[in-house]
Amino acid sequence: MPQSSPIALALHGGAGARAGRDYSKAEDHLRQLAEQGREMLSAGRNAVDTVEALVVEMEASGLYIAGKGAPPNKAGYAELDASIMASGSDDRNTTAFARNAGSIAAVKHLKYPIRAARAVMDDTPHVMLVGRGAENFCTQHGLEFVTDPAQYYVVPVGVLPEEMTQAELGHGTVGAVALDQAGRLAAATSTGGVFGKLEGRVGDTPLVGSGTWADEQVGASCTGLGEYFILAGGAQDVASRVRYQGATLNQATAGLIKDVGRLGGDGGVIAVSREGEVAFAWNSDGMKRAGFGPDQELFAATF
Ligand code: ASP
Repeated sequence: MPQSSPIALALHGGAGARAGRDYSKAEDHLRQLAEQGREMLSAGRNAVDTVEALVVEMEASGLYIAGKGAPPNKAGYAELDASIMASGSDDRNTTAFARNAGSIAAVKHLKYPIRAARAVMDDTPHVMLVGRGAENFCTQHGLEFVTDPAQYYVVPVGVLPEEMTQAELGHGTVGAVALDQAGRLAAATSTGGVFGKLEGRVGDTPLVGSGTWADEQVGASCTGLGEYFILAGGAQDVASRVRYQGATLNQATAGLIKDVGRLGGDGGVIAVSREGEVAFAWNSDGMKRAGFGPDQELFAATF
């Protein structure tokens, strides 16, 4: 039996937090989820099941701009995106080089887009499905649909109703990154996208490498103006800085956010390393976040 790895978890509820607003409800929720994640990982659950379960809870809550809290696009309806990635084999006794990922984009009726991303990862030879084909696939897989999207989607906490439709882009995705006892990393990200987006617009969140990444060394999940994260390299850039530059996790996350800022964008990133370090970086007013590192000490904060 290989030696047990430290466990670690990082969560975000979006980097669109604005100074002066009260996010205590979301912080409490994130703290509870971090506790739930700690229990799952301590009980030996794998990283990918853990990040999926936690993102489902965030999608269901209506507290964030993902799942229930998705904003309408310019045409007046919500389009949702999600992706998930995992490293490592299911067999704890092998350290086989293995990666897998799944994603879904621009779906209109799915209750839990992250479950759809997971189904794409587990049950197809593909990494990404979009549009009608994606929803047909989800129907065949018995995934839960929203029957009346106009009724189901709500204005999330900390957002003014008029902000949901304004042209100035605002945002608040959710994400989770975990390290399990077998040393496997997984990351998951889900979003309703940015406010005022064009119909059919897809950001970084469902793009594996941009919004979400998990290899053998680093897992990461991004939040912010997705166009800039795509242009800066996103979540995979954090892992590349560690792999090729020998950067620490803090240097790598700060490096990505610096590049996003240089391009004119804003947002944040969370990351977990194979050693159990957790790192958070953002250049917006705040990022709703929670987690724990190898000391198992839980924290939750926004600013
Ligand atoms: N990155 C997401 C997107 O561009 C939005 C967000 O993180 O809030 O769709």
